[in-house]
Amino acid sequence: MLCEISVWGNFMATWTLLSVAGLFFILLLSGIVFVKYYVKPTYEMWRWKTNPKYPSAEKVKDEIIMMLKGMVTATFCPALALQLAQRGASKAYCGVGEFGWGYLIASFFIVWIASDFYEFFYHRLGHKYDFFWNIHRYHHQFYNPSPFAVIADEYVDQLVRSAPLLLFPMIAPINMDMMFLQYAIFFYGYGSYLHWGYEFSWPDAHHPVINTAFQHYLHHAISIKNRPYHTGFFFKLWDQLFGSVYTEACFCAKCEQAKGERSVEKWKKVEKPDYSVLLRPAFWFSPSTGKKDE
Ligand SMILES: [Zn+2]
Ligand SMILES: [Zn+2]
Ligand SMILES: [Zn+2]
Repeated sequence: MLCEISVWGNFMATWTLLSVAGLFFILLLSGIVFVKYYVKPTYEMWRWKTNPKYPSAEKVKDEIIMMLKGMVTATFCPALALQLAQRGASKAYCGVGEFGWGYLIASFFIVWIASDFYEFFYHRLGHKYDFFWNIHRYHHQFYNPSPFAVIADEYVDQLVRSAPLLLFPMIAPINMDMMFLQYAIFFYGYGSYLHWGYEFSWPDAHHPVINTAFQHYLHHAISIKNRPYHTGFFFKLWDQLFGSVYTEACFCAKCEQAKGERSVEKWKKVEKPDYSVLLRPAFWFSPSTGKKDE
């Protein structure tokens, strides 16, 4: 499908198109989740919220502004990849191709696992070295993130994170439809879940194999410079191998419920910010108050 679209021949048109499509996709996906879980939360929902507090409208505004920055750079490498594919300058292909189904299925798993390790390792660098932390720290100003934080990153971070879409098809034959879909679902879709702020009853924080929304919440809340905790994306394996698993007392929603921290009385005391200001243009043009959330 992607191979047949002729507009990819023009880089600027491709980049613009991908950015606009990406923006639409993000605002729709994160927007729906935000309205349901942040604008109109119920007690039953809140019981599963990792952090009992809701971020201020100011913070959400900052997230959305930074998300726009992330969007523009996240689409740069994919746009370049499509252009190279169309010119036959990379090993990208469409359809089943000359390699057959076996190759397509095998490459699906290799791309997935290699990308997951790549994202883990690059994220780990952000928590290990000053140079990388100075770029990555912007994502960490959101210590109680909302679903809009998925790609709320400084320019460089999103450029590096989306680089596999350009690099992998240079190294080996890759089906472009497959890889683009994979990144949209596994990295943006799963990333939305990781930044949801809420948890499922299953898979819960104690799942042995995958990182759940709790691990990424924990990452935002306590992983800072020189303290890499759960920098992994999907598989817990990488953090287990590199020794960056959080081992202290668990504070996931399920454990907090067991401790009696999610009672109706506590819910009634939770401040529910008025997010309707986000729909007011004046709010977007007023300077940030710099007020810190707790
Ligand atoms: Zn981080
Ligand atoms: Zn994050
Ligand atoms: Zn727990």
